[in-house]
Amino acid sequence: MLTLTAVVLLAPGTLIVQLAFGLEPSTWAVAVTSAALFMLVVARMAAMLRRMQEQADRLDEIARTDTLTGLPNRRTLDAQLAREYERAARDGAPLCLALLDLDHFKRFNDTHGHQAGDELLAGAATAWSLVITSGDMLARYGGEEFVLLMPGRTLDDAEHLLAALRVVTPQGQSFSAGLALWDGRESALGLLRRADTALYAAKDAGRARTARAAPAVTPGGPPLEPTSLTTG
Ligand code: GH3
Ligand code: MG
Ligand code: MG
Repeated sequence: MLTLTAVVLLAPGTLIVQLAFGLEPSTWAVAVTSAALFMLVVARMAAMLRRMQEQADRLDEIARTDTLTGLPNRRTLDAQLAREYERAARDGAPLCLALLDLDHFKRFNDTHGHQAGDELLAGAATAWSLVITSGDMLARYGGEEFVLLMPGRTLDDAEHLLAALRVVTPQGQSFSAGLALWDGRESALGLLRRADTALYAAKDAGRARTARAAPAVTPGGPPLEPTSLTTG
């Protein structure tokens, strides 16, 4: 600001000095200092705009990311789910979604402390992220629950991926998962609800396993098939 003030005052200052001493005003001096002034003001504005853009990008990143794990948060998941719905509807490709929940996480917190629990959440997020591919999306859904969105994977393929995540889960911990395949019609809420019901089934069956959700119920459609369980 000091430099800017000095430069802004340069052109009128030059004129004032010349007039005060009864000198012939030099148009060259005024033109050169004015040009320098405009260039500095423009450069300063460009730097400010760049900084504002960087801050806006950073804020956007914060709004889309879970602080503890660095994973996309629920807001980002919702937006991505909408995009994947569109893509799956257009391409006719399968779209699988799994709800993952760490087993006995409260007990882990109680035994090792809340901070160790935080480290487990962040560690699991990192380990799982290294296994999934760029087409998949892992998001923190809340607490010790995560959503894995797997466009283009069949249920078998998705189950294999979940088995691979199971192997790398840190500190000998396990998770249960509910896995659902989008039927091409149900809402995102319906898909999540089916995955959630399957997750409960996996917990009830003894945890550390994946349960496939029953197919979506369509009005007048076939009767519900039972949820199926795998430990893979
Ligand atoms: P289950 O196998 O049935 O899922 O049992 P659980 O103990 O994992 O599930 P429960 O819902 O009983 O407990 C979840 C615990 O997760 C309780 C809560 O304090 C803890 N929790 C939620 N968010 C965080 C977090 O960000 N950090 C830590 N350290 N703990 C969290
Ligand atoms: Mg839970
Ligand atoms: Mg749990």
